[in-house]
Amino acid sequence: MKRLTILGSTGSIGANTLEIVSAHPDRFQVKALTAGYNLELLLQQIEKHHPDLVSVMLADDAVRLRKRVGADGPEILSGAEGLIACATFPDADMVVSAIVGAAGLVPTMAAIEAGKDIALANKESLVTAGVLVMQAVAKKKIRLFPIDSEHSAIFQSLQGHRARDVRRLILTASGGPFLNHTPTSLRHVTLADALAHPKWSMGRKISIDSATMMNKGLEVIEARWLFDLPSEQIAVHIHPQSVVHSMVEYIDGTVMAQLGIPDMKGPIAYALSYPERLPLDLPPLDLCQMGALTFSQPDTELFPCLGLAYRALIAGESFPAVLNAANEVAVGAFLSKQILFTSIVDIISATLDQHQTVKLNHIDDVLHVDSWARDRAQDFLRQNLI
Ligand code: NAD
Ligand code: MG
Repeated sequence: MKRLTILGSTGSIGANTLEIVSAHPDRFQVKALTAGYNLELLLQQIEKHHPDLVSVMLADDAVRLRKRVGADGPEILSGAEGLIACATFPDADMVVSAIVGAAGLVPTMAAIEAGKDIALANKESLVTAGVLVMQAVAKKKIRLFPIDSEHSAIFQSLQGHRARDVRRLILTASGGPFLNHTPTSLRHVTLADALAHPKWSMGRKISIDSATMMNKGLEVIEARWLFDLPSEQIAVHIHPQSVVHSMVEYIDGTVMAQLGIPDMKGPIAYALSYPERLPLDLPPLDLCQMGALTFSQPDTELFPCLGLAYRALIAGESFPAVLNAANEVAVGAFLSKQILFTSIVDIISATLDQHQTVKLNHIDDVLHVDSWARDRAQDFLRQNLI
């Protein structure tokens, strides 16, 4: 029986994780849950999974929730302290890190420091603080399993092979909803257009990141830390069918790929149950019915965010944290209809231009850089308002 804490249980990854838990009650037990503001969904999750500890963002919501769950319900905490209490809950073996954004960094680090194995969806913690996260993973001798489908595919394609035989990693990208647009036509896309991902159903922030292809840029940085390879050995191919989830090319020219239907339950289940595979109630991948699988180079003019991510990765140290923070501010502004889609890249680029390297020795250095970049991005945002 694996005992789980789920950080971000009401999100897309959190809810998918709980569906897998429900289908395998003999394998998993939920010990702690954290969520933002969706109390109704959280309440349903509490009633179904009976965690011992729960945390929400606001103290007022914790009071409301306590009344609803009654005396037999779990202990309910709130805020940053509640999040850390759940991330480090002594009775849990594994923490599913599924908060969106840099907000996931501190609780993920706390879970690692507490010796928990991690199933990582929150790519932003590796983007912002990859060196520190991986050092902590090594020091605490815990296992960190990727949930991101590309990284799960690479992790699976590496099984049984030697790391030193790898020539390069090839991350696949669907290209998102704007694959067939031109740089000029992108100026007129709406929020609804950007949220309508052709292949994956995901949270709002990652859906916009997929439309700009910043998501792939963040994933290149995530791969750099997970698999300890430099940017020159990490390539991106556009693959609109989203069947090949990523590949590893070896020094003898062999390419190992992992294929499947685009459903996050596959990679989540693998992270939860590695090295075993769980039976999942999903439609099979029917390659014969699928038709052609195509691959092409990403159009860097159409998707300049991908280039910015490589630029930040090569600059190193604090630059990826700046990239991430500026992206979160810009995407937030686009989601609240304050700016045009094409202004997202302008805000990130301007913020990166103003940054001077800061050495990252401690998580506090990352938080400081993150807050600096948010302030700068907000300045550019004010100049950029529609
Ligand atoms: P989501 O927006 O659907 O859910 C986010 C969860 O985090 C919610 O439970 C929300 O309440 C909570 N949350 C948000 N802000 C918070 C904060 N400041 N403090 C505490 N909790 C907070 O997001 P998602 O799509 O499930 O993505 C979660 C993470 O997984 C992201 O890092 C994303 O990049 C990654 N990921 C998602 C998918 C996917 O298919 N959705 C695929 C690969 C990777
Ligand atoms: Mg992904």
